[in-house]
Amino acid sequence: MLDAMFFNRLRAAEAPSARRFEVRSPIDGHVVDTVADSGAAEASAALDRASAAFRVWRMRTAYERSGILKAWHALILEHEPLLAELMTVEMGKPVTESAGEVRYGAAFVEWYAEEAKRIAGETMQSQFPDKRLHAIRQPSGVVFAITPWNFPIAMVTRKIAPALAAGCVVIVKPAEQSPLSALALAALWREAGGPPDAFQVLTALDPKPLSGVLLDDFRVRVLTFTGSTQVGVELYARSARTMKRLALELGGHAPFLVFADADLDAAVREVMACKFRNGGQTCVSTNRIYVQESIATAFLERLTAQVAALRVGNPLDPSTQVGPLVDQAGVAKVTAHMRDAVVHGATVLTGGDLRSGLYYQPTVVTGIRPDMRMMREETFGPVAPVLTFATEDDALRMANGSPYGLAAYLWTSDLRRAYRVSEGLEFGIVGINDGVPSTAQAPFGGVKMSGIGREGGHWGIDEFLDIKYISVGLT
Ligand code: ADP
Repeated sequence: MLDAMFFNRLRAAEAPSARRFEVRSPIDGHVVDTVADSGAAEASAALDRASAAFRVWRMRTAYERSGILKAWHALILEHEPLLAELMTVEMGKPVTESAGEVRYGAAFVEWYAEEAKRIAGETMQSQFPDKRLHAIRQPSGVVFAITPWNFPIAMVTRKIAPALAAGCVVIVKPAEQSPLSALALAALWREAGGPPDAFQVLTALDPKPLSGVLLDDFRVRVLTFTGSTQVGVELYARSARTMKRLALELGGHAPFLVFADADLDAAVREVMACKFRNGGQTCVSTNRIYVQESIATAFLERLTAQVAALRVGNPLDPSTQVGPLVDQAGVAKVTAHMRDAVVHGATVLTGGDLRSGLYYQPTVVTGIRPDMRMMREETFGPVAPVLTFATEDDALRMANGSPYGLAAYLWTSDLRRAYRVSEGLEFGIVGINDGVPSTAQAPFGGVKMSGIGREGGHWGIDEFLDIKYISVGLT
């Protein structure tokens, strides 16, 4: 249960700050708790502590670091119901999904606990008999991680588990909507025996003052960010001054292509999972469903029936499938996209309006044109725009006709088409007959305006390791 004792445990993981701000639940607007409102001074102090902690943490053996990560992993899983409830209360995700996210987030900790022991170097051949050439990999230093609210646990662990495994230390600035989940992770890290200053959380209502200090300080060597492309571009530019390494996981605009040879029921099922989990507030959620003309009517009938039957309500109720949007800004964006579509001739097949509070009705909309806002920007809500295509070439051209390149999906029973189309898609992640491909051991990340770098799998730890070449003369 989320009682005072639990919130006190979170408080132990907070950075000291004179100011605090309220965290409100999107369920009904009640104040869940207050957290430290960190600014520039708190960031400087945290960075001093992190720099000192790095000197110690990097010297621990990979086996020691792995052991602490394993203990942290066990504690996260042990606290699954509490963490799930906390996440749901602070950002509105249906509680069954929150429990799934706790397990998904924990999987990164487990994976990188194992990966810590596999950081290896190379030995090269030399053309001289009296020289030996080596390349070793060492932790880069202090990492600054900025995370979003839509996956308050998994976006933190996906970034910091590899960083900590590599021997780096991290300062995390979680989104202002969901700071409590990050504090819970930090509290459990300490309880698992992790050095407190190796993983610090700075919560803030306004991200800019504290981020400015960390972005401009040379001691921060890596910036890892998940959020909007607009903010990512700003951070990329500012990080150039201190030549930081960057991993940027930015916006997406995922197409979902359904070919006439698809298993229709399975395709509808996966479109539903892909679009409506987390109320559509996922950067890999489909924003554009392209269906081949000959099956469009049948597809729309099935999709509309299933969307209309989705259970919207209190996300703490385990039977709820769609909860509230995260905040008023989220509602404003979804509403503006729908208004723009309808004004320009779109047809609403189900939903299309706000129900009450932050609860938006799951929606299917057709008659979409490429110049509509929802075709150019992420809607980040439970709205499924369905378009049609004639040929495979048309489908590929439309899918690639976006500056974003995070995730794309296709549904077909033709193996040759599956390979052709997946290889032609300009995206970092492709799901063939799979609407939910993300998993800890696979690379996650985008191309084009969706970012740079990869998280997950053996790729995810590379972001936090520098290569050092050591040449040994033996004369
Ligand atoms: P979203 O639309 O998902 O809220 P944002 O990119 O605005 O995406 O936010 C993602 C994260 O980036 C949050 O933690 C937010 O506080 C932080 N953020 C937003 N603007 C800035 C900024 N100018 N500098 C540093 N962090 C920022």
